[in-house]
Amino acid sequence: MRAEVIAIGDELTTGQRLDTNSQWISRELAVLGIETAFHTTTTDSLDDGVAVFRTAVERAEIVVVTGGLGPTADDLTRDVLAAVANEPLEVCPQALAAVEARFAKRAAPMPESNRRQAMFPRTSRVIPNPEGTAPGIDIEIPRRASGTSRVFALPGVPAEMKTMWAATVIPALVAGRPDAATIRFRRIKCFGAGESAIEAMLPDLIRRGRDPLVGITAHEATITLRIVARGADEAACLAKIAPTETLIRDALGDLVYGVEDDEIEDAALAAIARGGWTLATAEIATCGQIAALFAAAEARGHQAGLRWGLVLPESGAAAALLLAERVRQETGATHGLGVGPVRAIDGIESIEIGLVGPQGVQLVEHRLGGAGTVRMSRAAKTAIDLVRKTVQSGVSATP
Ligand code: ATP
Repeated sequence: MRAEVIAIGDELTTGQRLDTNSQWISRELAVLGIETAFHTTTTDSLDDGVAVFRTAVERAEIVVVTGGLGPTADDLTRDVLAAVANEPLEVCPQALAAVEARFAKRAAPMPESNRRQAMFPRTSRVIPNPEGTAPGIDIEIPRRASGTSRVFALPGVPAEMKTMWAATVIPALVAGRPDAATIRFRRIKCFGAGESAIEAMLPDLIRRGRDPLVGITAHEATITLRIVARGADEAACLAKIAPTETLIRDALGDLVYGVEDDEIEDAALAAIARGGWTLATAEIATCGQIAALFAAAEARGHQAGLRWGLVLPESGAAAALLLAERVRQETGATHGLGVGPVRAIDGIESIEIGLVGPQGVQLVEHRLGGAGTVRMSRAAKTAIDLVRKTVQSGVSATP
């Protein structure tokens, strides 16, 4: 079975934005044992889209397209699919209700243009979008000679596309196989090493055709390993997943911090709560991101462990360990975490992260990497991970 991945958008063809969706989707398809034979990038125009799809459905059994599902006049993927399938677009009441519900939740009136997002080619199925307003489209398009090609259309926004891929497209792709009675997933979450380093530590696990399959994805320095097992029933799937999970945990050690939807701050808070500890933070460069991540984890239902989160201006620059010790003393928390200002030496930017607590004193120099907001979010998570590893590693004194 061969696939074609299509990216739609003038932003992409003019070079203003790099098409990372196609790379991600091709890797995911490979994990499922599906070869991607073609990558095509095209403009927002109806004619170009129709030409690309007419070719794609003839040469690939699976076509995955991202982009062009929004409400504006230049979002034409649904019109392209309707034209190629030779079907009219019809309002899908269920999709319309979902789009309306999203606006109602924000107490905002729904612009008339958003009705377009509830229009689907007659024989297609809706791919729900839990994170945005643009639902996806799943449609079988007849080929000239015989048979059909299965097309999955997803939004361009990478986070929405990935969520929909995991929730709907993978199960649909796997369900199409004769040996797939039941499918179960297990996600193992890691932090502290890059995607390729983790891949290198798991030789032979991430390869096409393995049973169960193991896929790897990265999001803001968090690495997710997804085990996909197919079997006669749930017990058969779980029996396949368990030994692979053990292999991963043995190979990665404490790089593994959690499973499923766990975030690094969830793991750190759980470790703090287990030891009966408390934490106070003082941040300069990360501007409160660490405290915000902990607060969000507490809002998700974790036991409160953060006693105080302080944000200091650059002008108050102080060494990370000094900040950590001071905030610990002032609040009476068992652990103090300090993040210093950004320092640039020979053009290389870094920050100091200091942790003081019953397990001793730790100072880490974190080199800032990544673009835009990812840079500081990665730094904040690195500091949180230092707390997790230290607190987990052993209890050297009673609080
Ligand atoms: P929306 O409802 O959000 O408009 P859409 O399906 O219409 O969804 P587009 O308008 O095509 O999506 O793209 C939305 C954004 O998603 C783009 O501005 C860009 O940031 C990102 N994006 C789109 N396609 C890609 C791609 N192939 N790779 C990476 N990012 C992309």
